[in-house]
Amino acid sequence: MVKARIPAPRRSLLLGASALLGTSALLAGCAAQGSPSAAGDAAHRSVAPSASTTGAAGGSSSVAARPTPGEGGESPASPTRSTPAPSASGTSASAAPSASPYASPSAAPSATRTAAPVRPSPSGTPGTAAPSTHAPATGVLRHTASGGRTVALTFDDGPGPATGRVLDLLAQYGAKATFCEIGDNAKTHPAAVRRILAEGHRLCDHTVDHPQPMHTQSHEQQVAEIGDAKADIEKAAGNAPEITWWRAPGGDFTAENERIGADLGMKSLGWTVDPRDWSRPGVQAIVSNVQQNLRPGGVVLMHDGGGDRSQTVAALEQLLPWLVSQGYAFDFPQS
Ligand SMILES: [Zn+2]
Repeated sequence: MVKARIPAPRRSLLLGASALLGTSALLAGCAAQGSPSAAGDAAHRSVAPSASTTGAAGGSSSVAARPTPGEGGESPASPTRSTPAPSASGTSASAAPSASPYASPSAAPSATRTAAPVRPSPSGTPGTAAPSTHAPATGVLRHTASGGRTVALTFDDGPGPATGRVLDLLAQYGAKATFCEIGDNAKTHPAAVRRILAEGHRLCDHTVDHPQPMHTQSHEQQVAEIGDAKADIEKAAGNAPEITWWRAPGGDFTAENERIGADLGMKSLGWTVDPRDWSRPGVQAIVSNVQQNLRPGGVVLMHDGGGDRSQTVAALEQLLPWLVSQGYAFDFPQS
């Protein structure tokens, strides 16, 4: 059962956190948090080359990266969102694989929910186990539903100006994808939310306003971020869509927030391939990263929101036909 939302305190709590952490820390976008996740998602880590993306389940921990101010920021509240000019030219040829998104030790989904002391949820609903804040999540999903030669494309931080173009391209190739949406953006772009659903894609909760690092927020703040976003997305969609997953900003999953998502009926959605499109590394870098790191059953992280996504769109123009030519079928993540 889902806990009630906590409307009022969130903003002020966030502001308080901002004061404590420094604004830049919060605005930094998906800056990585040391453990247990390592954010590949959104924006916001400084470039940290590294190891392979596949196999993220057992992945190495990532480094806490400093935010990259002004970098495409995913700060969802940012008014400056650029238009999705579908550019075509690739620039960088570098194809450094991205950091492993998670540091969770393994993907044994069952381990988590047991030993935690029960802490009353903010709404007073009993039964919410609240594991220690920094305990790693263990149930993060990083595989397609069907397995085999399938891929799950996921787009974070929208809806935004690039969402329409992404949807056009997906339609052109008959591809289905999953959109991890920011609650505030869903409220701003309800038509995009409805189009996503109408065209057969699925939705994922990506918090109200993308707080980072998520695991340092209070339990109540995290409940509000996840629960309110779900409600925002559902309201924008207008038809009570099933929201199967949620994704922590920067992949900052912990046992605690994983439990919050589970109480709201959602699984934690990770990824296996992070081409770091948010950092605008060049179209070819994005393309090459996916081509080199994708394995059958993989989950690719890209972004349709959070800044200028023209490189992402241009990369998608190449990746979609490539995926088809490689025999990949488009799938949703496991659930
Ligand atoms: Zn994000």
